[in-house]
Amino acid sequence: MEEAMFWSKEGKKIRCNLCAFNCLLEDGQFGRCKLRYNNKNSLKIKNYGNIKDTKVQSIENIPMYHFFPGQDVFTVSTIGTNIDWIKKTTDKFDKIKKLKSEELVKTMNAKKIKLLAFNDYEPTMSFELIFKILRLAKRYNIKTMLVTNGFMSSEAIKKIGKYLDAVNVKIIASADKEFYKKYLNVDDVSPIFDSLKNFKKHRVFIEVSNTIIPEIGEDENSHSHLVDWIINNLDSSVPYHLMKFEPFGDFHEIPETPVELFEKFSFDAEKNGLRFVYVHDPYVAGYSTTYCYNCRFPLIERLGEAIVENRLDKDRCPSCGFKINLVIE
Ligand code: SF4
Repeated sequence: MEEAMFWSKEGKKIRCNLCAFNCLLEDGQFGRCKLRYNNKNSLKIKNYGNIKDTKVQSIENIPMYHFFPGQDVFTVSTIGTNIDWIKKTTDKFDKIKKLKSEELVKTMNAKKIKLLAFNDYEPTMSFELIFKILRLAKRYNIKTMLVTNGFMSSEAIKKIGKYLDAVNVKIIASADKEFYKKYLNVDDVSPIFDSLKNFKKHRVFIEVSNTIIPEIGEDENSHSHLVDWIINNLDSSVPYHLMKFEPFGDFHEIPETPVELFEKFSFDAEKNGLRFVYVHDPYVAGYSTTYCYNCRFPLIERLGEAIVENRLDKDRCPSCGFKINLVIE
């Protein structure tokens, strides 16, 4: 059984320090994620190396719009999560695979793919495996990214930061405190903001997603607060994705995000100062295009998540020469 990386002893108990929930575990007890447990006074990982699936897709599907736009990415769907919201859909896995770092890198080289992403559930739960793969990927000049809920501890971010190239931090309901408490069993949303600051400190390229949930997660004050926070603490050029809620499980009676709500939230985000706001709904016109912030020239036109035309001159606008916040090499 593989030993975990971040833990300390507290009397006869073990404190897990991998994510912000910092579970304190008695002998034999599992943490909130149900993947880490105290095994005779050391922290062990259940199902080390297990993943749900791998696939090749365009990086826009992650979504990452400003990190190697238009390129293929090899994605690994990890298992396990520390947030109940996602767990409701992931308690059962039809197929579980074992992932070996050397084989993964070999496959990517054979397919000539230079981007690797860990996404779907919560990659933090597979930290030790991912850390090993990221170190190997660096040697082969493979760029790496995580799609995370933002509850990774600062200690873990410090460790992984120099090997990680990009993140998309997926926020739900504009990080509304009441929503997280009531629906996600999370008392404190501040770790999301701490981890965003930590990723920035370690020079990891950041994009932010926000799933807008009608009726129960559409608080306008929380949204304004989130947008202001991004501008004041990260940058007004951070790509910001408004994501569609689709009914599932316990939330099957909540409708999907309507166009009017997207229009309101995207208008507010831009009015408050965010420069690159995207809406992931085909019925909201123009919001998948990347425009030059300076002259409004359409730099990257997309249809859904597919690029129709890329007019960038490297990382600059071909019309006015303005430098755009994106990574292309
Ligand atoms: S990873 Fe997070 S949820 Fe799992 S045991 Fe550690 S602190 Fe708890």
